[in-house]
Amino acid sequence: MDFLQQDIKYLPGVGAKRAELFKTELGIFTAEDLLRHYPYRYVDRSRFYKIREIEDENAYIQLRGKFVRFEKVGEQRKQRLTAIFTDGERTIELVWFQGIKFVLDKYRVNTEYVIFGRPSLFNGRFNFVHPDVDLPSELPPPEQMGLQPFYNTSEKMKNNFLNSKAIQKILFPLINQVQRGVAETLPVHILERFKLMNLTESFINIHFPKNNDLLARARQRFKFEELFFIQLNILRQKKWRETHYEGFIFSKIGDFFNTFFHQYLPFELTGAQKRVIKEIRADFVSGRQMNRLLQGDVGSGKTLVALMSMLIANDNGFQACIMAPTEILANQHYTTIVEFLKDMNVEVALLTGSTKQKDRKIIHEKLENGSLNIIIGTHALIEDKVIFRNLGLVVIDEQHRFGVEQRSKLWSKNEQPPHILVMTATPIPRTLAMTYYGDLSISVIDELPPGRKPIQTYHYYETKRSALLGFLTKQINAGRQVYVVYPLIQESEKIDLRYLEEGYDYFREMLPKFHISMVHGKMKAAEKEAEMQKFVSGETQLMVATTVIEVGVNVPNASVMVIENAERFGLSQLHQLRGRVGRGAEQSFCILLTGVKLTKTSRQRMEIMTRTNDGFEIAEADLKLRGPGDLEGTQQSGMPFELKISNLAQDGQMLEIARNTVLDILEKDPALSLPENKILSIQLKKMTTNVVNWGAIS
Ligand code: ADP
Ligand code: MG
Repeated sequence: MDFLQQDIKYLPGVGAKRAELFKTELGIFTAEDLLRHYPYRYVDRSRFYKIREIEDENAYIQLRGKFVRFEKVGEQRKQRLTAIFTDGERTIELVWFQGIKFVLDKYRVNTEYVIFGRPSLFNGRFNFVHPDVDLPSELPPPEQMGLQPFYNTSEKMKNNFLNSKAIQKILFPLINQVQRGVAETLPVHILERFKLMNLTESFINIHFPKNNDLLARARQRFKFEELFFIQLNILRQKKWRETHYEGFIFSKIGDFFNTFFHQYLPFELTGAQKRVIKEIRADFVSGRQMNRLLQGDVGSGKTLVALMSMLIANDNGFQACIMAPTEILANQHYTTIVEFLKDMNVEVALLTGSTKQKDRKIIHEKLENGSLNIIIGTHALIEDKVIFRNLGLVVIDEQHRFGVEQRSKLWSKNEQPPHILVMTATPIPRTLAMTYYGDLSISVIDELPPGRKPIQTYHYYETKRSALLGFLTKQINAGRQVYVVYPLIQESEKIDLRYLEEGYDYFREMLPKFHISMVHGKMKAAEKEAEMQKFVSGETQLMVATTVIEVGVNVPNASVMVIENAERFGLSQLHQLRGRVGRGAEQSFCILLTGVKLTKTSRQRMEIMTRTNDGFEIAEADLKLRGPGDLEGTQQSGMPFELKISNLAQDGQMLEIARNTVLDILEKDPALSLPENKILSIQLKKMTTNVVNWGAIS
């Protein structure tokens, strides 16, 4: 058997107990898993530092010198051991809180040692806490030690002496074995084309790099390999789906579409809308099932594009549906679409959790006999009881809230899967979209309908509240309405609620002439509805709310969005909230209120918000500031892979190259049956054992 696949239990220095820890704590089962547990950092041990050179806490460094004396300080359990260490020029303090006896027994004064660790600043002086101490004779000479790898471990592993250094020791003999050669995972033609380091060399140099250049090349190879196989996996499944399912062909542009377009469409389509409708139409006649992601900022006119696509489905004798994540949104779509189609002969219905039993029955019947053309709803649409006569197009609003399984459940409504159009108002940076939604084609509406005034955004410190009150008074006197939003963080709902209520009292006191609504998640639905209604009808001028208003509310007369504690929101959320205003004809404003003391990234977030309204620019910035792991929505998207070494914020260019390479290969060899690509299908099989096959779900 391939030694890479052997159980780590049998590696020298591991054994059953450590193997168990590797498995449960890090998911490492085989020698290869361990080799692919890449160091998260490297430390330069290629030279000795002088104490006088120590100037920050960041870098791990090593010193060479002697202990001058040891001293126990404090009582019993709080006892610590300090040692004075000299490099012959100056002295520095070393500290131990544990293992005091061990240190005292083992280390001697007047003997030369190498001290290694990270200096920390304590009372204005640098010291080392729990440094590594070795005799120079125990270490290879510095020029051979070079860059030292550091490995992630867990608390539990450390408690069992399985720390970074222990992992390094286990890797040492393993790398010796690797040196004899391991089987490649990438075909020669790719290695040669991109001058990538081979797998054997890469394993050696990622763990024990001889210099920075070799390390960089090893990292590059592993990043490419990782991104390449993710793309290969996604695009292979896409191909598989395309060859196993046919797509409905909507070749006709008929009365529904034409009547709407020529008689009832109240405005010109924007250039971007026209382009996207063309892209969708091309999918409709391709004979392949459409799986398209439609991205565009709030108000860019996605719903209208969806409606026109649905009319094409209707023209070809098919039914269409829109699935929204909440009832409020489903209601809103329903109202909008009924308004657009009011003079046309299209049957439209709404189906949500609150639909009455007797209406529900009628809807079910009409869906089954085909007399309903368009249905709008929530998850209620994917219940098994809901049977369509011939569902041809599914529009899913707000991708992030629906998982992959729900998408596939909609396919199963037909023998042949309907076309799928996913709409999202949360722009997704290109690298994320290619990775997390890499099986979808992407359309972008990057143009707002004409005549919209861009929202003006300002950042105010809390100290400027009186100026804010003056501004709000002016706006309300001019007939506008105002949102004031407070953050809501689940762990401390009570405190959040208190802030909200205090805010409500504050505005009532400071702006006594005006009427105020308050809405939060703890209210009963009916109560919430009533408060919202007051704001919608203009009876109240201020709406004090938690982020519940993020989705769904549409009040064109509301032109000011005040965000309290704006530093507590992520960029995408700020952008989403801002999108609640700017829907009417008046100039709209967004005021970000923060404390005076801000972290660097908070300040950057405010700066980006005040500079741009472009959702894509904001999404890209969000990715850079937060890292891909934290992005809202990506956790729920349930992708069956993790990125071990590449970083979607930094490795965009490599991702493009990897994806294009995969596309080239699949174009020439869709089944990966050419001898030169055999290696790829083997590798893919290995990967996909724990991957959901989307295509196979239905
Ligand atoms: P989205 O779904 O992207 O948030 P909508 O489709 O709801 O956007 O459109 C927002 C508003 O702009 C709606 O009132 C809609 O009628 C209007 N609208 C859409 N397209 C245009 C257009 N081309 N010209 C003018 N107004 C438009
Ligand atoms: Mg919309």
